[in-house]
Amino acid sequence: MQPTNMEPVPTAVMWDESLLRYRFSDTHPMAPVRLELTHALAGHLGVLDAPTVTVLTPPMATDEQLSAVHDADYIQRVREASQLDADGEGLGAERLEEIGLGTDDCPVFSDLHSSSARIAGGSLAAAEALWSGDYQHVVNFAGGMHHAHREKASGFCIYNDAALAIQRMLDLGAERVAYVDLDAHHGDGVESIFWDDPRVLTVSLHETGVALFPGTGFANDIGGTGAEGSAVNVALPAGSNDAAYLRAVHAVVPQLLRAFSPDVLVTQHGCDGHGRDPLADLQLSVDGQRQLMLDARDWAYDYAGDRWLALGGGGYSPFDVVPRAWTHLIAIAAGHPVARAEPLPDAWLALASQRSGMDLDELPETMHDAVDVWWRSWEVGFDPADPTDQSVMATRKAVFPLHGLDPWFD
Ligand SMILES: [Zn+2]
Repeated sequence: MQPTNMEPVPTAVMWDESLLRYRFSDTHPMAPVRLELTHALAGHLGVLDAPTVTVLTPPMATDEQLSAVHDADYIQRVREASQLDADGEGLGAERLEEIGLGTDDCPVFSDLHSSSARIAGGSLAAAEALWSGDYQHVVNFAGGMHHAHREKASGFCIYNDAALAIQRMLDLGAERVAYVDLDAHHGDGVESIFWDDPRVLTVSLHETGVALFPGTGFANDIGGTGAEGSAVNVALPAGSNDAAYLRAVHAVVPQLLRAFSPDVLVTQHGCDGHGRDPLADLQLSVDGQRQLMLDARDWAYDYAGDRWLALGGGGYSPFDVVPRAWTHLIAIAAGHPVARAEPLPDAWLALASQRSGMDLDELPETMHDAVDVWWRSWEVGFDPADPTDQSVMATRKAVFPLHGLDPWFD
């Protein structure tokens, strides 16, 4: 499927080598090499040299900026923890644990505050660049830290750059912001921060919390009092493939965006839904993920005045999946899509082989998985016995009427 519009538009990509300092440990799944190899692949394929693309250096967010969505006490404790050794000696394990730090998921390291604030600063700068009109699309593939809560770290995420970007655009005058989370995991942090805010529509499609961290995000979680319908969750069965995920997305997202009519679209493109990602149990392909990026571009164009902030997120197959997925994301945002069958450049393969210790024949050869992407449209009917359709219908029944939509026919 071709997008309705692939005109190149002014596009910014947030990047600086300092983003590689977001590094919990040698063995932690959130490996900075995934960012390094994404940047390198986009560079080797010429994506960053496209005439409408500008690479911007992300600044570090200040404490005052971070406090737009985080408690001051939390920021202070993250700062203190960063001064300590990896065992958190000094702050006390209990005080660390209260804010979700010193755990297997979020161990302490010396650049914890500064590197997290750099990611956040990237999304804040992206928000400002979008809202000012300097750029129509901005990509911060180091961002998408969607599990961070107002008062605690969670799931490899310290500061919630997605929420900070959304809040910044509200503060600058946006009346409605839509956030669509395509990570394998529920976007619980972003949802919780805007739970009571009817100006922010959060939509998360993820592997069901029955099977996967963080264990939340079900159809009847719809937002707080006065904001009912502003939180939308599709909890998909473990093992869902491209066809199932794309069917769910197309049965929920465009309808809600049309009804909500946001000023700007923020999307989170965690690529841990890939079949070879070690942390989740979905079965997406790079081809399916690329289709979701084309869809996101279309949604921004059709429903959000062509203002689009695209973020990264999860992704724990750093050699095989992440660089290809997010290079597609940058290229699609820029309006210079990379062909699915494009061969991976030799120089990139050499770097990936060196970084991974893998032989060349263990690395992918092209920018796709050679999977045919298709899905059944909701308009052709739904199957009450199909688990994906049951999840989709539960979500449509829970929120569509709150947006003036018909769960059966829209
Ligand atoms: Zn994830």
